[in-house]
Amino acid sequence: MPTLKPRTKSKEYQILSFLNARMDLPATDKLHYENLEKGYKGELFFDQLTLMLQNDLYILNDLCLQTNGFFQIDTLIIAQHTIYPYEIKNHEGDYRYELGNFYPKLSKNEISNPLHQLNRGKLHLRPLLKSLGFYLPLEGDVAFVNPNFTLYQAPLNEPIIHPTQLNNLMKKLNEIPSKLTDRHKRLADQLISMHQTDCPFTRLPHYSYDQLQKGPLCTDCYSLLCFVDESKKILVCNKCGHKELVDLAVLRCVEELELLFPDMKITTNLVHDWCGVVGSKKTIRRVLMQNYKSIGERHYRYFEKIK
Ligand SMILES: [Zn+2]
Repeated sequence: MPTLKPRTKSKEYQILSFLNARMDLPATDKLHYENLEKGYKGELFFDQLTLMLQNDLYILNDLCLQTNGFFQIDTLIIAQHTIYPYEIKNHEGDYRYELGNFYPKLSKNEISNPLHQLNRGKLHLRPLLKSLGFYLPLEGDVAFVNPNFTLYQAPLNEPIIHPTQLNNLMKKLNEIPSKLTDRHKRLADQLISMHQTDCPFTRLPHYSYDQLQKGPLCTDCYSLLCFVDESKKILVCNKCGHKELVDLAVLRCVEELELLFPDMKITTNLVHDWCGVVGSKKTIRRVLMQNYKSIGERHYRYFEKIK
């Protein structure tokens, strides 16, 4: 079954992953980063399950849409007669449900209510679907995916999927009668085209170029402990052993630089400083010349993305 929109890391999560590797994040940002990481892992886990579905359905992962305000939907499944938004949660441990709110089992501090998040999504989605000419009912659930999650006093009448019910949910989705048409495809395409990559729910700490540790990050484990094997022209991670061609590592470093500092001009000197151990200035100039548009001459030269 086609996943029409694959999941990608949000800009916020990407930036925080880079910053976390290159600076000491303030405690609240570190916690926020760890929550994003945990949430993303939970979403990938859910994706593995939906990937196995055989039924005629469309799956759109990770939509950020704007109507009267912005709203996010972790997974949207389009069936012939019904649309299913899912709010995916990767909470771990014991929680309790009390008077409509969620708490860690032994705490008085409620966590943000996933049922409200699901309902908010539906509330925005309904008029949006109508405006696109679709009057299909919206179902959907909050899906708790962590096998070590327990919800005490869970309500029976709320749309909650417990970890032990995930298999049954997939079975149900596989068995609903569904035959999609061109209209459904057009709806899916329209929703994808409306997706906002710059979602405004972004919370980043202040950071500056000088404050960040330089050098290439391992693409696998985000370690800065990398060295270059000059003879083979590869970057090797001292922590996990991952290997990568130096040219590709340089390009990755430039992309990271562009994401962290979109206003900075990309020059050979800047990239050389940023890449640390990777490559001589000559190598870096060659990689930039081959992959970017060169503007200006000699000392005034800088590089832009080829559009
Ligand atoms: Zn590594």
